[in-house]
Amino acid sequence: MNKFVRSVLLPVARSAAKPRLLSTTIPRCEQGLARQTDSTASPSAPNLPVTHLSEEETMMRDIARKFSRDVVAPLVRKMDAESQMDPSVLQGMFDNGFMGIEIDPEYNGAGSSFFVANLVIEELAKVDPGVAVVCDIQNTLLNALFRRYGTDVQKDKYLSRLSTDMVGSFCLSEPTSGSDAFALKTQAVPVGDDFVITGSKMWISNAEQAGVFLVFANARPTDGYKGITCFIVDRDTPGISIGKHEDKLGIRASSTCPMHFDQVRVPSSNILGEFGKGYKYAIELLNEGRIGIGAQMVGLAQGCFDATLSYVMERKQFGRRIWEFQSLQHQMADTAAKIEAARLLVYNAARLKENNLPFVKEAAMAKYYSSEIATLTTSKCVEWMGGVGFSKDYPQEKFYRDCKIGAIYEGTSNIQLNTIAKCIQQEAGKDK
Ligand SMILES: Cc1cc2nc3c(=O)[nH]c(=O)nc-3n(C[C@H](O)[C@H](O)[C@H](O)COP(=O)(O)OP(=O)(O)OC[C@H]3O[C@@H](n4cnc5c(N)ncnc54)[C@H](O)[C@@H]3O)c2cc1C
Repeated sequence: MNKFVRSVLLPVARSAAKPRLLSTTIPRCEQGLARQTDSTASPSAPNLPVTHLSEEETMMRDIARKFSRDVVAPLVRKMDAESQMDPSVLQGMFDNGFMGIEIDPEYNGAGSSFFVANLVIEELAKVDPGVAVVCDIQNTLLNALFRRYGTDVQKDKYLSRLSTDMVGSFCLSEPTSGSDAFALKTQAVPVGDDFVITGSKMWISNAEQAGVFLVFANARPTDGYKGITCFIVDRDTPGISIGKHEDKLGIRASSTCPMHFDQVRVPSSNILGEFGKGYKYAIELLNEGRIGIGAQMVGLAQGCFDATLSYVMERKQFGRRIWEFQSLQHQMADTAAKIEAARLLVYNAARLKENNLPFVKEAAMAKYYSSEIATLTTSKCVEWMGGVGFSKDYPQEKFYRDCKIGAIYEGTSNIQLNTIAKCIQQEAGKDK
């Protein structure tokens, strides 16, 4: 991370911060669902609006906004056309501390909060949602797993790299297991003090750049999903092959690849956390990670909306700026209200999570609703732009393609609705 930010600005911002109110109430909806127990709660005071930002939050948001505008924006079209992340963007994300936001400064991280991670993801997504997802996965899945479950040796080896120069990938999905993730077929067979991993993974984000993979494999299939274990696999381990990246509809700056593990041998010391707890970690992390996807979708919607607003305020038809037609104003006002509602859901879920309060239903609502609103916003923006909205010369066309992923990864919209319905049922006391 930028040394000035880490050593001067962050401590100043923190000293101005106040503690937040914690509650121990756990609604039924949370029972059986893993909860985060970090003590790095964001430093906003209680009883403030969820949109109120502390000095630290404001500072990190502004750094991300400037980075997005100065470094990412000029490269958006090129990265989309070439389906490649520009190395300067990745390097810039490391240099600005965006790849290790919650990682302790002891490991060269920014030592900041989950809420800040979401603010950074939102700002990046306003300009390029494909860049935002790289930051999202690194922070909300990879770093979170290592921070929470890594041994001291694993933390020493990986956290400093993840915050400064190493991308990681989260390898859960397979050709025959997506929504039904725990039907995975990849196996880890114990051989002496090692495990030999064999199987195929699909849709692995950032696999092209990754130096480390967190691989979910079943190490005791007779125990069903309770045999699923999370393994740390270094990129240079013999037997790994990374397939050609997918030619995707959107978020093309981020690589998404199939992977094959052919008798990949790792020592048992490469198990992350406990044997057989992989399913639990995956549920827990994806419950949290989907707040980040919500932030990505809110940023995407806002970025598209802002770019459209500036156009409609200039463009003239019938001798007037098209913004002056009340029908257009009402449609845009309606969309602005929906984007704000999505943002409030995301911020609220993030605040709940980092204060160790129940958040699973709220996180599912945030992801579901923000991906719906991103789809609606980008579709409307293309229309409000007229013909140019249909052209690659303007950003709306790309946002329109990028938004679709929000309803697919880290749990499809149907899966979010299943979670919300399950929580509602539990809250109503009808879960028996
Ligand atoms: C660009 C991209 C990046 C990704 N990155 C990663 C990654 O880094 N790591 C990783 O592990 N995975 C990743 N994924 C995989 C992603 O998480 C899965 O695609 C997603 O979970 C859906 O699984 P599936 O594609 O197999 O669809 P399916 O599960 O086959 O779903 C197909 C349809 O059936 C519906 N459906 C399925 N089950 C139910 C149900 N019970 N009730 C109602 N409807 C249902 C779904 O909602 C969907 O509409 C990525 C995917 C993409 C496209």
